[in-house]
Amino acid sequence: MSNTMLAAVFKGEGRLELEQRPVPNIQRDDDVILQVGGVGICGSDLHIIYRPQGHPAKPGVIMGHEFAGRVVAVGKGVEGLNPGDHVAVDPNPGCGKCKMCRRGLPNACIPHFTNPEAPGPGWGLTPGQWWDGGIAEFVRMPAHHLYPIAKHVPMWQVAMFEPIGVAVNGIGKIGFRVGESAVVLGAGPIGLLFVALFKSGGASKIVVSEPTLRRREAALTCGADVVVDPSKEDIEQRVLAETNGEGADVAVEVVVGCFPRRLIWSASMAAC
Ligand SMILES: [Zn+2]
Ligand SMILES: [Zn+2]
Repeated sequence: MSNTMLAAVFKGEGRLELEQRPVPNIQRDDDVILQVGGVGICGSDLHIIYRPQGHPAKPGVIMGHEFAGRVVAVGKGVEGLNPGDHVAVDPNPGCGKCKMCRRGLPNACIPHFTNPEAPGPGWGLTPGQWWDGGIAEFVRMPAHHLYPIAKHVPMWQVAMFEPIGVAVNGIGKIGFRVGESAVVLGAGPIGLLFVALFKSGGASKIVVSEPTLRRREAALTCGADVVVDPSKEDIEQRVLAETNGEGADVAVEVVVGCFPRRLIWSASMAAC
């Protein structure tokens, strides 16, 4: 195996470069070295490399936090993972010990979100942003970030587990039930995952608001019943028309920035 690998490195505002980097090796007892098998490009990755930069990250890090891989080496303290295993990666696991983790809110884990490198409070220690991530041939990850996955599942699908988790968690929180109608505001990748999950979960009608034609078409492919271009049509009136004047049962906002809350409330009797 070569000692170097190709990696996509954030070099500072507006700059992403492919570089040869040393292949990582075991440094701590709980380390695992993965050969990356699939990696996604998150919206936050784009915001990091935008000019002006829209999301903080440490210059010099290898980007990528939505990835999957095959275990090639484990530290001597790692249990339950062996070379050859396929794993999904949780980029932001809670510590399991702090007050917020013990309240069942690992997404607000105090040590994870007390990042001394970040420009202000509230930024997590996400790989690909503050330490080397997965847009590379190999990556070093602590074992508690990793979940073994059956080997027949394609790696590109396993790399989607993190963004799918966003939609699964959201649908769980709003208490969606079979037969309910749903509004999805925004058909970017996360919005499309919501559409697919509402569809597979038995939604009676799915209305999607999205200004971009290509994304409206993708929403139909994912299972939307009605797509609306909000620059040309009043989404509120259309939702009422599609739901016998009652409004949808649930609505999710999946857009950058903020829709007016009035729109969500009016689009849904059970506002979320
Ligand atoms: Zn992400
Ligand atoms: Zn914690």
